[in-house]
Amino acid sequence: MGAGHNFQKFVTAILDLSNSKEWLEAKPEWELHAVYHDASLRACECGHEPINQICIIKNRDNGNEAEVGNVCVHNFMQLASRRIFAVLKRVRAEITKSLNPRSLELFARRGAISESEMAEYLAYWQKRSNMTDEQRSQKLEINRRVLEFWDQESARLAAAFRTNGLKPR
Ligand SMILES: [Zn+2]
Repeated sequence: MGAGHNFQKFVTAILDLSNSKEWLEAKPEWELHAVYHDASLRACECGHEPINQICIIKNRDNGNEAEVGNVCVHNFMQLASRRIFAVLKRVRAEITKSLNPRSLELFARRGAISESEMAEYLAYWQKRSNMTDEQRSQKLEINRRVLEFWDQESARLAAAFRTNGLKPR
């Protein structure tokens, strides 16, 4: 774990937004809501800065949200943020690579792809069966759409954070 990610400070901030005041009970209240890239210099709730890989985490029970860094979400909350940032980077570098199930779930929830597109993508490409030309082009189209959605959402959420520290709903 990198230096400067203060666990106690992070936990205190998240507990403040949680229903339970016990970390092990409060942690499962939270889910990964969105991920985006922000090139500006900003700090995580743990005090670490700068963070560029931003995670919006949302509390299932009370609807509270927090924007924190990928490292803390991975290390302290064990949500799949690191795998999602990694696969986006991989697909950005090589468009024929595959998105992973966690990223497909997230982007389906965000509305970038439909539930049926997610199901097809998983069915075709997790089995690694021979793909038809049509399936191959559908996969590329979904990859490009997800990256474009991610860029647009990143620009929108980063601008919103600079304006008011909050996300537009
Ligand atoms: Zn942090």
